[in-house]
Amino acid sequence: MRIDPDTDILGIVDAQPTFMPGGELAVAGGHEIVPAINRLLPKFAHAFATQDWHPPGHASFASSHPGKAPFDSYNGDTLWPDHAIAGSPNAAIHAAIDQTRIELIVRKGFRPQLDSYSAFFENDRKTHTGLDGWLRQRGFKHVFIAGLATDYCVGWSAEDALRLGYAVTIVEDACRGIAQATIDAMRARLTALGCQFIASTDLVG
Ligand SMILES: [Zn+2]
Repeated sequence: MRIDPDTDILGIVDAQPTFMPGGELAVAGGHEIVPAINRLLPKFAHAFATQDWHPPGHASFASSHPGKAPFDSYNGDTLWPDHAIAGSPNAAIHAAIDQTRIELIVRKGFRPQLDSYSAFFENDRKTHTGLDGWLRQRGFKHVFIAGLATDYCVGWSAEDALRLGYAVTIVEDACRGIAQATIDAMRARLTALGCQFIASTDLVG
């Protein structure tokens, strides 16, 4: 697959130590995306990144709800361990990722009562992050996605991008997910919507 430098962009989702081994909400093998992303970045003329970015006491934290534990369900949402605390070292984009080509960083989940998985909308599915406007004004049409986690923030971002009319390709070896069952379910849903899945070695910069 050949990358069009004018209309194609790499989106790096939540490549933060908080989601990597040793972090607060570690995804198995999460750190393995860092070298994969650094191999991808030079192939693209443009890139953006997202950061999960929560205030202390955020509504998505199990610790904010007495009697609840991480990964419990609450009003239909999953509760998580405290993670991605705004300004904390583990909420930074991983230090080994080369940010020189990243033109925009979108922070999400900073409203205390509202969680955010997608790069495009908060979890109420109505509140925009602004990314759609930025991509449209810049003329991008095809979003390639790498990052964490395949079954949540990567998948929700891909789904919203497809519904907003972008072509979407997930670079699978530059992503890691939380659980195989939810990864498989997300892959099936995205495939039905027209998402493509490739390996980074399929890309020609
Ligand atoms: Zn979060």
